[in-house]
Amino acid sequence: MKKFRSIFWHRRDLRIEDNIGLFEASKNSKNLIGVYVLDPNLLNLNRTTSEAKNWFLAKSLLELQKNWVRRGSRLLILNGDPIKLISKLADLIKAECIYWNDNIEPYEINRDRLIKEHLSKEKIKIYTFLDQLIVKPNDIKTNDDKPYKVYGPFYRKWIDIITKSNISMNNSIKISRTSKKIRGLNERELSSIKGSELNYCISRESKSVYDLLTSNRFNNTNLCPCKPGESESINQLNFFINSGSINSYNQARDVPSLESTSNLSAALSLGTISCRAVWNGAQVSKNMANNEYQLNSIDTWIKELAWREFYQNALINFPELENGPYREKWLKFPWQNKPDWFKAWENGLTGIPIIDAAMRQLKNSGWMHNRCRMIVASFLVKDLLINWKWGELFFMKSLVDGDLASNNGGWQWSASSGMDPKPMRIFNPSRQAAKFDENCDYIRKWIPELAHVSTPNLLSGEIISAERKGYPSPIINHKNQTSIFKELYSSIN
Ligand SMILES: Cc1cc2nc3c(=O)[nH]c(=O)nc-3n(C[C@H](O)[C@H](O)[C@H](O)COP(=O)(O)OP(=O)(O)OC[C@H]3O[C@@H](n4cnc5c(N)ncnc54)[C@H](O)[C@@H]3O)c2cc1C
Repeated sequence: MKKFRSIFWHRRDLRIEDNIGLFEASKNSKNLIGVYVLDPNLLNLNRTTSEAKNWFLAKSLLELQKNWVRRGSRLLILNGDPIKLISKLADLIKAECIYWNDNIEPYEINRDRLIKEHLSKEKIKIYTFLDQLIVKPNDIKTNDDKPYKVYGPFYRKWIDIITKSNISMNNSIKISRTSKKIRGLNERELSSIKGSELNYCISRESKSVYDLLTSNRFNNTNLCPCKPGESESINQLNFFINSGSINSYNQARDVPSLESTSNLSAALSLGTISCRAVWNGAQVSKNMANNEYQLNSIDTWIKELAWREFYQNALINFPELENGPYREKWLKFPWQNKPDWFKAWENGLTGIPIIDAAMRQLKNSGWMHNRCRMIVASFLVKDLLINWKWGELFFMKSLVDGDLASNNGGWQWSASSGMDPKPMRIFNPSRQAAKFDENCDYIRKWIPELAHVSTPNLLSGEIISAERKGYPSPIINHKNQTSIFKELYSSIN
């Protein structure tokens, strides 16, 4: 079989192992070089990314570069417009084929369409694959061939497809799909890049990777629980399994003071681990489980993986979700959007301990526990009466795992504006704290100035001024605000 000179373009698949597109490229290429483009549109700190995510990205890229060299080739990191840069690189190295794994966000789909148009004029063959979901979106349709809008039936179909396929047969966490050696370019070919305008890009580009790290407060610290790079992602999965956290997930996953979840969200979002590897990890755990409780816990975790795929499918099928509420009546909701309340929420200064602890966890670590994401989102929308789009954007600018599909899905679920059929879900912050942080370990950790306050007062938020030590009194009363919310909600029905 004839083999070609090819480029593999990494995007949200920053790994070598179990990378479907890369595996195909390495199988079919005589020479293969990797490329990643730092696209300014995806690196906008005011809109699309966060300091924590930039740190995760840069660290993961540096490891990926080393892994390419170990395999016998190299990864070029370019900086700028991918449409121009990918074509230029293909032209310079006389590539015959370009491989990549498809993405699902509207911006990326449109970008890829433009690149395909451009490259087809140059007669370059493009091969694309679906790598970031366990089940192909086209396979997961209702009996009427329509996309699912409700999670429950989606999950049943999803698990049915997987169970019937052979993904579950492979019990290895690491799946080596790539050949050991990838043949790269020779020195003469590489020097042609050095002599070109791409070299400017590369030297500026690799500097850009370091730019993402210099003065990045996450660099060389342990602030964030998500660890960048392919090897750390595998370690995190192994730790989650071997420490037994996966076996007690049912009970512990809602307690924010415990480190009981996998912390794999950033790895799954940027692809330093494959979704099949985590699925297989869950299957290995099932084989080792000792009782029903452990098996149920593992199944609950698998259901979380399915939420990720549900939201990605939702965005593929309804790209308009990116721009606003799924339920159009929410466009008429009379938001109060008070800037000083939003500021208090952002900065963890609302005077409501569980809200402020969660927002400070986000600010300090770039990550927030899932239970707390639901509590603070409900509070922003249903207590502060602020448009959920403000919260969605703030999360994208703060989270290490900021991901359009999951973030938008989480916010629309919390705001009741999405596909979920339950409209009136309102979280009472004190009751949530009493249920999930009963000893206030989480609140005390993130609001140290309140560490001396009694547990009942921390839960209720009723703290006498002498004990506040500068901590603000509550900016709102939950009961009053939610009755206003209900009234406003009835005006749009
Ligand atoms: C308002 C709001 C915003 C959110 N924004 C994001 C986001 O930008 N990026 C993101 O990855 N998740 C988001 N989530 C989902 C969830 O909070 C995180 O995925 C989870 O907290 C990550 O921690 P973990 O990796 O330890 O999860 P685990 O509990 O170990 O779960 C395993 C994996 O399943 C997936 N997952 C778990 N819960 C969900 C969920 N509810 N929706 C979608 N996927 C899920 C994640 O990939 C996660 O890594 C959001 C949730 C809410 C309520």
